[in-house]
Amino acid sequence: MLKTHESTRKVARRLDQGSARILAATISRTADRWFVSFTVEVQRHLPLDTRRTVVGVDVGVRQLAVLSDGTMIANPRALEDALRKLRRLNRQLARREPGSERRKKTHRRLARVHARTANIRRDALHKLTSSLATEYGTVVVERLNVGGMIRNRRLARAITDAGLAEIRRQLTYKTTWYGSRLVVADRFYPSSRTCSACGWVKAKLTLAEHTFICETCGVVLDRDLNAARNLAKLAQYVAQSGWETQNARGADHKTQLAGQVAMKREPSSADIRLGPTASRHGRDMQR
Ligand SMILES: [Zn+2]
Repeated sequence: MLKTHESTRKVARRLDQGSARILAATISRTADRWFVSFTVEVQRHLPLDTRRTVVGVDVGVRQLAVLSDGTMIANPRALEDALRKLRRLNRQLARREPGSERRKKTHRRLARVHARTANIRRDALHKLTSSLATEYGTVVVERLNVGGMIRNRRLARAITDAGLAEIRRQLTYKTTWYGSRLVVADRFYPSSRTCSACGWVKAKLTLAEHTFICETCGVVLDRDLNAARNLAKLAQYVAQSGWETQNARGADHKTQLAGQVAMKREPSSADIRLGPTASRHGRDMQR
């Protein structure tokens, strides 16, 4: 019998009801804490009421995400606090005598704050992706060219924080769990530079420009909201053309959008696919 710090009630209840089965357990240790992860087979009930709704998600730098319906999801405040603490401890570590007890102590504290930062971030991303996958029938996200953006150091941190790749990874399996659809726009789809009202494409939009101003129809919109609306529009296009969605199997398609933009869907072999009944509780769910 083990006493756990976090509640295991959810899993225990499912086990009692017979709607879940534990397949494996893994013990691990991070920053002086012990964790147990369970791989669980779970029966899920699919929500049926919202299957027709579409949401475009602009994964942010300034915000965690902006949805095409205007919802802004802020970066968790606790994350900023933890990052500040991380910077302070890093400076402190640099001042400590190598091999000293104090250095070891700072090192341990640093490891704990690192783990906490990662936990806060993971928690925020999970809340976001769970609500997206359960509340909408189709979720459209952008495949950002993270490699290209990481050259800008300050932005790189923000991008890493938002965990773009992680959001997409979680959405890929959660949309499968909940019976919704994930559409991933190609990285060359100009969701930020296109006017979501009239379709005009701006030649260049710098990262400093937080507002999108259309030179054709005169619309003025928050940059991220404009991008999110363009992504949502992409779903309609996908529905019309029979373009393969990200979490469905199928052949590669090359298509044109409104005669302007070439889109290419990359093979999705790297995507994580889980059957509707085989959920992974491990790292993601029950730490
Ligand atoms: Zn316009």
